[in-house]
Order: sequence, then structure tokens, then C-alpha cells
Amino acid sequence: MRTAYQYKLRPTKQQVVEIDRWLAMLCSQYNYLLARRFDWYEQNRCPIDACPLVCHLPELRENPDYYSQKKTLPNLKKTHPHYGEIYSQVLQDVVKRVKVTFDRFLSGDSNGKRSGRPRFKPRDRYRTFTYPQMKDDCIQGNLVVLPKLGSIKLILHRPIPEGFKVKTASVTKKADGYYLTLSLEDEAVPTVKPDINPELITGIDMGLKEFLTTSEGEAVPIPQHYRKSQKRLRVIQKRVSRRKKGSSRRRKTVKQLGNQHKKIADKRKDFHFKTAKQLLSRYDVVAHEDLNLKGLSKSRLGKSVHDAGWSSFLSILSNKAENAGLLVVAVNPKNTSQDCSSCGVKVPKKLHERWHSCQCGCSLDRDHNAAINIKNRAEGHPVLKAHRVSEAIAGFGEKPTP
Ligand SMILES: [Zn+2]
Repeated sequence: MRTAYQYKLRPTKQQVVEIDRWLAMLCSQYNYLLARRFDWYEQNRCPIDACPLVCHLPELRENPDYYSQKKTLPNLKKTHPHYGEIYSQVLQDVVKRVKVTFDRFLSGDSNGKRSGRPRFKPRDRYRTFTYPQMKDDCIQGNLVVLPKLGSIKLILHRPIPEGFKVKTASVTKKADGYYLTLSLEDEAVPTVKPDINPELITGIDMGLKEFLTTSEGEAVPIPQHYRKSQKRLRVIQKRVSRRKKGSSRRRKTVKQLGNQHKKIADKRKDFHFKTAKQLLSRYDVVAHEDLNLKGLSKSRLGKSVHDAGWSSFLSILSNKAENAGLLVVAVNPKNTSQDCSSCGVKVPKKLHERWHSCQCGCSLDRDHNAAINIKNRAEGHPVLKAHRVSEAIAGFGEKPTP
């Protein structure tokens, strides 16, 4: 199982200077490599409708790819010796980053979702560099040993969990300081605990009105502080746009804006963790709609607005469940809000219709109905089925023979 832990770093002034210098150098290398890719792409692609039937094919230049770009690095170190001061694997990781962004632009991610044209990054937007390989003993007391940067103090607010190995480490500059993100791996395969109770199951419907509704009809509202901090964000945003570009007053407000964004992100994460904990303390199995499924129905279009928030909540939820040996099931989202949860008949409703009432007499809140459908779809999950069968056999064996 893979998980990530984040710690705050306490670098010395000298280390801060060094980290910032690395970020600046890596940023310009990133932009350079990206430019080479665009260059080739613009020169060699042929928009089919503008192509004459008979045309001269120009000699194709070698397409810069991951390997050829990686090969340019030794030369870079010769022409720009200060790049030699960066740990080589960190520099190589930039090539990989360019590859990943460019691939996602051309062919899309695993779900076939293409992202937009990659952008060149200004220096203050290039905030992370990664060590793709870390030694087992890289954490010593409250110090982390990063090759070529040295030992940096960190606040180890929680120990690295037992049985986990540090795989990669990233240093990130955020609004309020520097952070270290460790990617940890545990070779043991996660297992569902043997005494999981298939009856303790709930379905959750994620909505815009409430954050989520369970199949028991309970709703978890979107916290009030969300709206409050969003309002404050807008106030600061306005303040930024009123100040003159390049002025120190503007720079100060931009810093304020960054802090506010960080605050909101922290609050949201905290809310996600608490909600996940609450759910898993009461249920052994949680079912939700699969957000990654293609061909989403119309009624779900409106939901994409909050998508980012949901997917991070779901990853927290399934991570937590995995750790506890519990089960989180993703089900097909098709028509969950349209179908009747009691008789299965499709009852079409528009987005604004908040109530589900069916001819069979079933009358429920729209989200509650959807949550029950989600729960019902998860009942057929193989792990739960297997569990029921084994329980039935065990129950049969206990029966006293007459
Ligand atoms: Zn019905």
C-alpha cells in the first residue's frame, strides 16, 4: 500500500537560499524542455484538412522524448556548471515531469481525460522538486538527510508508521514555509478484516446542497466556514487587483492571498478527514458513486463543479478504510438519482426537483433515494458475497444435529 506523509521543514537561512536557487534553476530547465517539445510539435504536426493531396514531406527531426531529453542533461552540466550542484536524480525528475504533462496533453490520463496545453511556469509557480529514490535511513531523529542539500530539521509531528519504507521525498515551498512530503510504501497487501460485518453497510450520495447524504437519510452539510473563508478570499482578491502591478503593497497582498488559500485547503482537508473517520467508525462498508466512470449522465454534470473536493475526500476515505481493514466500494453512478430505490422504476426528474415520489408509494428526499440505490448496488460486491456464504456455512455447522 502506498501512502504519503507530510512534515514541515525548518531549514536554516542558508538552506532556504539553496532550495530557492534549485527551484529557480529547475524551473528554467522545465520551461526549456517544454519549449523543445512544443517546438517539435508545432513544426511536425499536420492539420489534416489543410494538407494538400500531394505534398513534400520534410525530413522529420528527431522527436524529443523522455530518453533523448534525459541525454541532454550531461551536456547541460558542461555548459551551465551550476546545474551540477543539483542532485542528479532531482534534475532527471524534471524531465519526467515534462514527459507526464506533455503525455497528458497529447493522449490523456488513464481515463482518457486530456488536460489542456501545458503552460510555461513563472518562477513563483514552480514550487516542488522530488527525490525519486530515498535511502531507508534518511530520517535521523528530527533531521532528514537530502543528498546535496544536507541535513534539514523537520517537525516530526507523527512517526513514520511501522512496516513502511520511504520511497520518494518531495520538497515543496508553500505560502507559510517549506514542507517535506514522503511517499511511503508497505509491501503487505491490504486485506479486509475477517470479522467485517456486511450488514453494517451504507451508501453515500455526494451532492451540491449537502456534502453527502447516507442511505439512512442522514446528511453531512457543507461546513459554514467554507462560505466565510471564500468570502474573505474574494475580498483579498479584489484588494490584489486594485493594487499597482510591481508595487510592494501588491506583493504583500499576494502573500496574504496565498496564506488564505492555504488556510482554506487545510480546513477542507480537516473536514474530509473528520467526515471519513465518522463514517468508518459506524459502518464497515461504505459505497459511493464511481467518479471516474466515463459517460456520466446529464444529472451529474452539475456535480463536476465540486469534483476536486470529492475525489480528495474519496481517496482519504478509501485510504482510511484500507488501514482499518474495512471496505469502500465504488459503484456505477448511472441513474442513481432517477431510479426508484424501492421498486426500481425510473422516475425522471430535473436537477432542481429535490423530492423523489414514485407510484409505488415510495416518497423520499432525492439524495436519500440516490444513497439507497448506491448502497443496493454495492450489495453484490464479491467480498461481501463471499463473506455471506462463509458465514452461512459456519452457521450451518453450528446447528446441533438432532
Ligand atoms: Zn417505486
